[in-house]
Amino acid sequence: MEALTKDFIGLEEQYGAHNYHPLDVVIERASGSWVYDVEGKRYLDCLAAYSAVNQGHCHPRILEAMVEQAQKVTLTSRAFRNDQLPLFYEELHALTGFEMTLPMNSGTEAVESAIKVARKWGYAVKGIPAGRAEIIVCTNNFHGRTISIVSFSSEDQYKDGFGPFLEGFKVVPFGDAGALRAAVTANTCAFLVEPIQGEAGVLIPPDGFLAEARAICTEHNVLLIADEIQSGLGRTGEMFAYQHEGIVPDVLIIGKALSGGFYPVSAVLASREILGVLHPGDHGSTFGGNPLACAIARAALRVIVEEGLAERSALLGAEFLERLRRIESPHVRSVRGRGLWIAMELNIAARPVCEALMKEGMLCKETHTTVIRLAPPLTIDRDDLMWAADRIEAVLGRL
Ligand SMILES: *Cc1c(COP(=O)(O)O)cnc(C)c1O
Repeated sequence: MEALTKDFIGLEEQYGAHNYHPLDVVIERASGSWVYDVEGKRYLDCLAAYSAVNQGHCHPRILEAMVEQAQKVTLTSRAFRNDQLPLFYEELHALTGFEMTLPMNSGTEAVESAIKVARKWGYAVKGIPAGRAEIIVCTNNFHGRTISIVSFSSEDQYKDGFGPFLEGFKVVPFGDAGALRAAVTANTCAFLVEPIQGEAGVLIPPDGFLAEARAICTEHNVLLIADEIQSGLGRTGEMFAYQHEGIVPDVLIIGKALSGGFYPVSAVLASREILGVLHPGDHGSTFGGNPLACAIARAALRVIVEEGLAERSALLGAEFLERLRRIESPHVRSVRGRGLWIAMELNIAARPVCEALMKEGMLCKETHTTVIRLAPPLTIDRDDLMWAADRIEAVLGRL
């Protein structure tokens, strides 16, 4: 390891909480699909900050919007109104069709907010007896890291040492519509689901699962909440992953690429009937809906639409998937994906493969020990993508 890299890693390990196990690359700058480390070496980014950078790093149009807004006004708090928030609302409505938006910051906060809204809707609209609302979630879910969200995680490590936990959640197997139907009671207010599970390793449910879930929720007056923080905004080859099954959720949660990686911006979208349960003082956030966030998000959304990034993801993703499936290696168990969101399931530990790929100039990250998740910026050049596939083939061939 080069001296400079070692120094930065030393400081980080000494003074920072060790809640991550990053690859030993210290990134100093980035442009498009490429990042550069402190030694000046460049790498192709095949993770895109867990899909927060779908538009590519430091996209010039988003950067311009950010700088321009930062010179005007950055934070008013919701004690006052600002001129960016209404335009953000209007543009999100035009893009998604949802009637109302609740602006937040991190994805986790948006999920927390959706849970609060769903419970309140359960009491105020559905008429569930006080304190009895239930929310159904799926095995292998990832919705964030707060106490309430890890309360319904099926991952032991996410919970270990963090109890006591919140009540009111039921877990059903991901992709099992029968189990969902059986779990619904008169007190169920919502079913919270990732249309494709990202952190679990790009797990795609059986065809028809979401459509069936939609039907079950409609039949029992249960809110279908789609967490599209990672799957949304072009990643899967549609603007939103739920579109693959021609359904519309009642509540949509977005984040990550909503800012193109410039700033934490998230949102909960729903109908007037649902978000209308919130009244002044019920919920809030100092930074949520601030003019800087809104200006950045407006530019980030424009880039996704005007550069046709969902279409790019569909076309390039199909080609990349086919290329990866042609890799003949005893180490590869399966390759799955949708759009530019691909998981290679290995028979060996994925971490050393990611480390070897890093040495080849390509960055990706293991998830769940044996899975490599590939999720480059949707702006990636076709040639760069094929180069990445060649690197993977070479590394697997060597091991
Ligand atoms: C990343 C992610 C979150 C949490 O978002 P943060 O911005 O990290 O708080 C929630 N749900 C899903 C599906 C995610 O991928």
